[in-house]
Amino acid sequence: RTILGIESSCDDTAAAVVRQLDGKTAILSSIVFDQGVLHAAFGGVVPEIAARAHAEKIDHCVEQALAQAGVALRDCDAIAVTAGPGLIGGVLSGVMCAKGLAAATGLPLIGVNHLAGHALTPRLTDDVNFPYLMLLVSGGHCQFLIVHDADRFKRIGGTIDDAPGEAFDKTARLLGLPQPGGPAVERAAAQGDPNRFALPRPLLDRTDCDMSFSGLKTALLRARDGVMTADLSLTASDQADLAAGFQAAMTDVLRAKTARALDLYVALSPTEPVLAVAGGVAANGAIRAALTDLCAERDVRFVAPPLSLCTDNAAMIAFAGLHRLARGDSDDLTLSARPRWPLDATAPAMLGSGK
Ligand code: ATP
Ligand code: FE
Repeated sequence: RTILGIESSCDDTAAAVVRQLDGKTAILSSIVFDQGVLHAAFGGVVPEIAARAHAEKIDHCVEQALAQAGVALRDCDAIAVTAGPGLIGGVLSGVMCAKGLAAATGLPLIGVNHLAGHALTPRLTDDVNFPYLMLLVSGGHCQFLIVHDADRFKRIGGTIDDAPGEAFDKTARLLGLPQPGGPAVERAAAQGDPNRFALPRPLLDRTDCDMSFSGLKTALLRARDGVMTADLSLTASDQADLAAGFQAAMTDVLRAKTARALDLYVALSPTEPVLAVAGGVAANGAIRAALTDLCAERDVRFVAPPLSLCTDNAAMIAFAGLHRLARGDSDDLTLSARPRWPLDATAPAMLGSGK
């Protein structure tokens, strides 16, 4: 089976062709147009600009994905598209494009939850069995999911305010580092002393898997203002120490909360316990090292898909769509965009048969 995937829920316009043959899955193409430069001057994603850029790029993106895969649209078995959650304008661009293609070809149309796409990615690249524990850490999301099946997810905790990627990006802004903030903060932190500034590790006194990062940002702002020079700039060493302090706090919180999530998950007695990560923040070396170390300690396999599949892409949407297609499940042309779409409450119904 061959499926076209379309993704446009945030600031990346993406299309991909994925084929499943004899139980093996191959990504035939995966095109991603990053809108980063369009939003750079504004210090964040501007919804109107994103919507327009998606609308302008999406047809071209689909054409390129098909051409690169060497597949004609009529040779596909279905069209999968992110139907939410995300910015409404972007999601609409994708859904409208997919509906047009489905109407023109008569191919089945499959609406996919963006978070389900992220959550199923480890099975696209590795031999991972259900149930596994998923930590999704990106620019817009932070949650622990127990993935019981392709259509059954249990959220066991997550951030109650900012997402980690957002916190990295804001930290970069506070420290005068370039965007995207994650890589810039990581580079600066490598030169710094993580113990010079005592930054908080919020919610570690609580035994649940919830996290909070907004207090960390406020504490960082105060620490920065304490060392700012007379002309309101930072010395390179202050900048590095602040970045290192922030990254260490973030790493400690993620490690400690992942340890708690592992307790809940391992209690289910999975045959081969797996912790998988997705999201751009999973690229962070310090965070990766802490999670690798934690998993080694607990005898849990650590699975981190390549970064191009950890961040937003359409291959994961196509792959999630294949699961629904396999069940003979699809949507009709009334499929609508759902800017809010929590995974564990509604995915079973929307992602197919529901068990
Ligand atoms: P979402 O996928 O939730 O809609 P998004 O598209 O912003 O949001 P991703 O593309 O998964 O998220 O990841 C981007 C985020 O990852 C940015 O916030 C970026 O700063 C962060 N990031 C990237 N590399 C690193 C790194 N090395 N260390 C920390 N954070 C990083
Ligand atoms: Fe995403």
